[in-house]
Amino acid sequence: MGATMAPTIANLFMTEFEQEWIHHSPFVSKIVFYKRYIDDIFILWSGTEQELHLFEKWINTCDENIQFVLNYNFVEISFLDVSLKKMEDGAIVTTVFKKSTDRNTMLHFDSAHPMPLKNSLPFSQFLRYKRNCSNTTVYRQQSEKLKLDLKNRGYPNKCIKTGFKRALYYDRDALLTPQPKSQDENMITCVTQYSPWSRKIIQAMRHHWFLIKMIPGMQDIEFRAAYSRSQNLKEILSPSTLKDVEHSQTIDGTTPLGHFRCGHCKICDQTLELKEYICTQTQYRYRMYNFTTCQTDHVIYIIRCPCNKIYVGQTTRSFKLRIGEHKSCLKNKKLSAPIVLHCIQKNHDVKELRWFVLEHVKRDIRGGDRERSLYKKEQEWIFKLKSEEPDGLNSKIEWNSLIH
Ligand SMILES: [Zn+2]
Ligand SMILES: [Zn+2]
Repeated sequence: MGATMAPTIANLFMTEFEQEWIHHSPFVSKIVFYKRYIDDIFILWSGTEQELHLFEKWINTCDENIQFVLNYNFVEISFLDVSLKKMEDGAIVTTVFKKSTDRNTMLHFDSAHPMPLKNSLPFSQFLRYKRNCSNTTVYRQQSEKLKLDLKNRGYPNKCIKTGFKRALYYDRDALLTPQPKSQDENMITCVTQYSPWSRKIIQAMRHHWFLIKMIPGMQDIEFRAAYSRSQNLKEILSPSTLKDVEHSQTIDGTTPLGHFRCGHCKICDQTLELKEYICTQTQYRYRMYNFTTCQTDHVIYIIRCPCNKIYVGQTTRSFKLRIGEHKSCLKNKKLSAPIVLHCIQKNHDVKELRWFVLEHVKRDIRGGDRERSLYKKEQEWIFKLKSEEPDGLNSKIEWNSLIH
């Protein structure tokens, strides 16, 4: 199960397989209990051993895309991280299952992870043990082993003790009852990559959150912080995706970075050729890292008027097509756009405008919504370069649509 969507695909496949084959199999009356986790199936079988082997043979002829491996026992068997044992009185006792070859791979306490996560790890492990152990005696025995494992992974005694004590208060039946996930529409999860500075970022956000609440429509919105994993050494040194090679190269094999005229279109003569852009309004300095021309599509672009006000736009089509549209809007005096209004008020001629591509938004090799990322980038740039009217020529930023 490597790719993120693999379990989803496996679940879809298995659900269909179950409906078509298992629920209608000639052996269905022998299945007393049936549960599945992705592609692992657990069955309590009431038929004979011979019938079980027939079932295995039959199930493996149903679909050539899947082969099942049968693993059975009359007394004791493991499924995922649970070991089940049939007692003499017929009762089933469960405990935590660990392969004899399993190493202690729990997160080490010295690892660069958020402290709250490390502090709560023993507790969540004790809860897992509590769920998996069907009686208190077994739980006590297993939790002693867990305490030792945690100690070997550098967890301080106090942290282990606290986790164990907290878990004592939890009732096993309640732990085994699925809890509905609460979805709070007024809660935004702000995800940052974890680093030693993340705490400061979150603190600063908490401190200034009242500013967000002042935006119309945002007064009830709260936020919670979450961390995503940052790249590890392996991912930095041997990335699984190849670097995109720019298609235009100079004679010495290097790629020119910046925006260039294509040399043969109607917008060329007003195009600025830039390798670096310094915003006159904010003094923000931006070094271009793509090679773009009038022909490039999926771009964020800037139109500058003679009084140095800017308009930030985005398009999925080619830059020259989009600029062509702006030109005709200005010619026809389409008043809905702030840029047209401004040019009329200030008596700017279309010929006086200058334009260039600021950034090219590439296709994400792993998929994702390219149009949405273009739109988000556009709004980010409007904010960064302060190009909202009246300082610039853009309409107001739509904060709400950026968040939802
Ligand atoms: Zn051109
Ligand atoms: Zn102007």
